[in-house]
Amino acid sequence: MSNKVPITVAHGDGIGPEIMDATLKIILAAGAQIDIETIEIGEKVYLRGNSAGIEPGAWDSLRRTKVFLKAPITTPQGGGYKSLNVTTRKTLGLYANVRPCISYHPFVKTVHPKMDIVIIRENEEDLYAGIEHRQTDEVYQCLKLITRPGSEKIIRYAFEFARANGRKKVTCFMKDNIMKLTDGLFHKVFDEIAAEYPDIENESWIVDIGAAKMASTPENFDVIVLENLYGDILSDVAAMMTGSVGLAGSSNIGEHCSMFEAIHGSAPRHAGQDKANPSGLLLGAVLMLIHIKQFDVATKVHNAFLKTLEDGIHTYDLYKEGLSKKKVGTNEYAEAIIARLGQKPTTLKAVNYQASDTNVVETGKHKETFRAKKELVGIDVFIDWKKGTAIEFGNSLKDVKTKNLELQMIGNRGTKVWPDGLPETFITDHWRCRYFNPEKGKIISNSDVVELLDAINKAGFDFIKTEHLYNFDGEAGYSL
Ligand code: NAD
Repeated sequence: MSNKVPITVAHGDGIGPEIMDATLKIILAAGAQIDIETIEIGEKVYLRGNSAGIEPGAWDSLRRTKVFLKAPITTPQGGGYKSLNVTTRKTLGLYANVRPCISYHPFVKTVHPKMDIVIIRENEEDLYAGIEHRQTDEVYQCLKLITRPGSEKIIRYAFEFARANGRKKVTCFMKDNIMKLTDGLFHKVFDEIAAEYPDIENESWIVDIGAAKMASTPENFDVIVLENLYGDILSDVAAMMTGSVGLAGSSNIGEHCSMFEAIHGSAPRHAGQDKANPSGLLLGAVLMLIHIKQFDVATKVHNAFLKTLEDGIHTYDLYKEGLSKKKVGTNEYAEAIIARLGQKPTTLKAVNYQASDTNVVETGKHKETFRAKKELVGIDVFIDWKKGTAIEFGNSLKDVKTKNLELQMIGNRGTKVWPDGLPETFITDHWRCRYFNPEKGKIISNSDVVELLDAINKAGFDFIKTEHLYNFDGEAGYSL
């Protein structure tokens, strides 16, 4: 029986096919034991009328091999095309996006010579759940969903990754001074899990100042764990700080399957010219080789890549007069790496991936969520109204009440405008009307909510959504 590991490969669009050919040529020359199943994804599939950009049959291959090496694809312009990356990550449960961002000073020009950061980005939740609604003429919303198991999985993954890879510190960026419940949960889970890893230093920063610190002194960071949107933005910033987007690879890790890719896109303007830098995809393939436990091959490929950079053999994006020795195309670059298989860099730090389990991170661990005592104490009713001021709106709504629910306050875009609002506050047609039981703290039922909505409707107001106000073990589960 063959001991080759089956993997699924997609050659992608634009520069994708060229950099995939170069990558496969290098890893096969290094002795990778892989059995390749090829699938077609991306532009051609989209333009055949498949809005997901992937044929149903391709999922069978991905579910069978569980390992996906993917070249970048082009998402056609115009509406109606779903992001294949988001679909793949969510469908296959690839919750952890891991992006090492490393400087190759003095061989690649960068203002940050000592940078060596791994960004670990949550891949499935946050504003990327894709739950958006237009609610009034003026107001559109996108739901930010942060879950306890999702936060536990990604944060534990970051600490396990740090421990397995000899890294010393995990930093969390979030914005819980503003998003007290969602980012507050992420921060709380970070503190809980950090306590289980006394051997790893931990710290947290509000994302704005954290990002500024990362951009100015990246040498003070090691592993950074973030929610989806912050991670999306900051991992591109970090990759660019190393010198070129063409240099960074990434893995998308799930409990069942994993996907490996370059972080850049299909750069269609450079396609078909034997010009693009294949390093990002090659380093994605190195992460794949570690994942499938072909440590010797991963080590050999990575060291030959470092040696090639050191020898000044550079593609156009890295080439600098005086710094580089030779400008090469995609193919010649791949040949140069192949010629150096077995060699190690002399100035840059050589890698040595071990056959022990040290570089393999156990994934997906999270505790069962503890069931809290949940009590319904009120309701936010959102109303579409544009006939006057906040005082006029409050005065016309305040008499609409039921036995168990009474209007307590009205907000507009998160600012309280009634009672006691200020005329300076800018208002839109989207009003959040908060109702509680007049008997303070008394629990209400869904029947009370239905009765209230009926009364609001009969009074001629257009309610557009509701949010239940729950206490969980006596603690408010809503922003105050
Ligand atoms: P891009 O990353 O494709 O290219 C931006 C620029 O970066 C290029 O013009 C080029 O100058 C440089 N560049 C990127 N990769 C390079 C490489 N390997 N070697 C040398 N230079 C390189 O970003 P874009 O132009 O915004 O997007 C083009 C297409 O790629 C779009 O259709 C987009 O949707 C898609 N995209 C796909 C992925 C993916 O499949 N993972 C990711 C991002 C963008």
